[in-house]
Amino acid sequence: MDLQTKALHFGYEKGIEGAMAVPIYQTTAYEFRDSEHASNLFSLKELGYIYTRLNNPTTDVFEKRFASLEGGAAAIATSSGMSAIFFAIANAAEAGDNIICAKQLYGGSLTLNTHTLKRFGIEARYFDVHDTSALETLIDEKTKVIFFESLTNPSIDVADIEAITEIANNHGILTVVDNTVATPILCTPFEHGADITVHSASKYTTGQGLAIGGIMVEREGLVEKLRSNPRYEHFNKPDVSYHGLVYVDTNLPPYTLRARLALARDLGAVLSPFNSWLFIQGMETLSLRMQEHSKNALELAEFLESHPKVKKVNYAGLKSNANYANAQKYFKNGACSGLLSFEVESLEEAVKIVNATKLYSLVVNIGDSKSIITHPASTTHQQLSEQELAACGVPSGLIRISCGLESAADLIADMKQALES
Ligand code: PLP
Repeated sequence: MDLQTKALHFGYEKGIEGAMAVPIYQTTAYEFRDSEHASNLFSLKELGYIYTRLNNPTTDVFEKRFASLEGGAAAIATSSGMSAIFFAIANAAEAGDNIICAKQLYGGSLTLNTHTLKRFGIEARYFDVHDTSALETLIDEKTKVIFFESLTNPSIDVADIEAITEIANNHGILTVVDNTVATPILCTPFEHGADITVHSASKYTTGQGLAIGGIMVEREGLVEKLRSNPRYEHFNKPDVSYHGLVYVDTNLPPYTLRARLALARDLGAVLSPFNSWLFIQGMETLSLRMQEHSKNALELAEFLESHPKVKKVNYAGLKSNANYANAQKYFKNGACSGLLSFEVESLEEAVKIVNATKLYSLVVNIGDSKSIITHPASTTHQQLSEQELAACGVPSGLIRISCGLESAADLIADMKQALES
């Protein structure tokens, strides 16, 4: 089935009322038929709904539909993209372990990995997404995850997914790919050897900046990588917190199952049914929107590249861009999403341009149908030191644009007047 068809239909069976739109199950809990039914649900003898911190019928449709777009086996929705990333890492690593992360990451992921996870005893080691050879030197027996973004925010690099997953697979290490900016419409990391993807659904999935949410997806067949793997003993040994369940022996996608039964249960960072419903609406038009976002971004990037005030344009759809070959390899039809960035001479110049635009909203978000302009050094990346900024490719004169769905001609005209004002 084509992605657009799946995005409209997958994972929803109409009930007797025949509701065309997926109903919102706005409920905290579900009545059990009797005590045996309740007991069967808790012991997984029967699958069903227990309590909305664990599962919910509306969220279930969102999870199944999203997993099908990504080509995965199962998914768990979370209260934000950050909690999806935390779930993906915390499901594998514990105190004393390390994770290896790309330097080119969203600012929130950098602070999570460098500072917050450190307080949990998990060390983050960094590699340059363009230098995968360094990975080998960072791996040891305590490495639990290699984490990177398929299309990086805000540096707009495209990871060589196969080069990274090959090294990870040689060592039996899980790869977690943040596929937020590309979306499953443009890039499907599982086809290139990745194990788990995470998304901020707050971006292109909602599409109109309507809600915060996230999702973690697991590939088909991941159980074989986890089974008997000394790095992931907790998937192979009885979980004392869940009456001795051995995740790899359940016949259910184990990574998602453990995230649900242990992490969602104990951390509670789950998606509300209403937000799941909003994401279901967004998914219906996701593939159409991603084509338009990509088309607009390419036209704007070409204009910026020709402008004398612009030192550098970062957009993988430009033939001149160092990421062009990777984009052609990993992105369907070479469409590169709506995110681009460009560099001007100084922080002052960048601030002046940001203030002079009229059509672009000064907002720290991406993936909205309305175009957005951001100055990362003074906003999303403000908490990072000068060295951290340089290391993740965010110079102070960098401006990030999330190209919306306005007409490309209007977007270019407004940017031109801002650059020349
Ligand atoms: N991953 C990427 C690539 C992002 O751009 C963001 C937010 O901007 C996140 C994760 C975090 O998502 P959320 O804001 O939904 O927690």
